[in-house]
Amino acid sequence: MSSINGARTYVAAMCAGMMQNALDLAVDYGRDRTAFGRPLVEHQGLKWSLSDVATHIAALDALVGKAAQLIDAGEDAVLAAAHAKKLAGEVTIPSITACMQAMGANGLREEHFLGQHLAAAKIAAFTDGSTEMMKERIAAQF
Ligand SMILES: Cc1cc2nc3c(=O)[nH]c(=O)nc-3n(C[C@H](O)[C@H](O)[C@H](O)COP(=O)(O)OP(=O)(O)OC[C@H]3O[C@@H](n4cnc5c(N)ncnc54)[C@H](O)[C@@H]3O)c2cc1C
Repeated sequence: MSSINGARTYVAAMCAGMMQNALDLAVDYGRDRTAFGRPLVEHQGLKWSLSDVATHIAALDALVGKAAQLIDAGEDAVLAAAHAKKLAGEVTIPSITACMQAMGANGLREEHFLGQHLAAAKIAAFTDGSTEMMKERIAAQF
């Protein structure tokens, strides 16, 4: 258990990496693919959806960075690691799904690995403590 905060932070960082990879794929794809005379990424609805993914990545990066700093400094990282892993458990699957949606049926192709990312995101939400247990850790500080 002495290394659990590091493990939770590491899992959250993996989720941020999967989301970034999914976003990069969706943006690259959407620049090339046109619909109704414009690249997909120029359609407002799609841009907004992908901008939400970018916000989730930025928020998770910040929480992971804070938890990692505390761990490196040998300080108490229970709360920071729980915040990072909780957010990862809540936003990774919807974010990867949004990126798949932006790529149409092409997002389902095995070569993009988004299906594997989805399965890994579900696994990540259990390993080293479920999302519900992260909520318990956070609420224990009240
Ligand atoms: C890839 C992987 C690697 C793992 N590695 C390890 C390892 O190295 N060491 C180890 O010990 N374990 C490991 N685990 C186990 C992991 O920690 C558990 O799967 C996780 O803690 C959830 O426990 P459980 O599966 O027994 O679900 P359960 O405890 O049966 O819970 C089922 C569901 O109920 C929810 N729940 C349970 N209690 C409450 C409550 N009080 N309030 C609200 N909701 C609740 C849970 O969040 C979950 O959604 C690993 C799991 C995975 C997927």
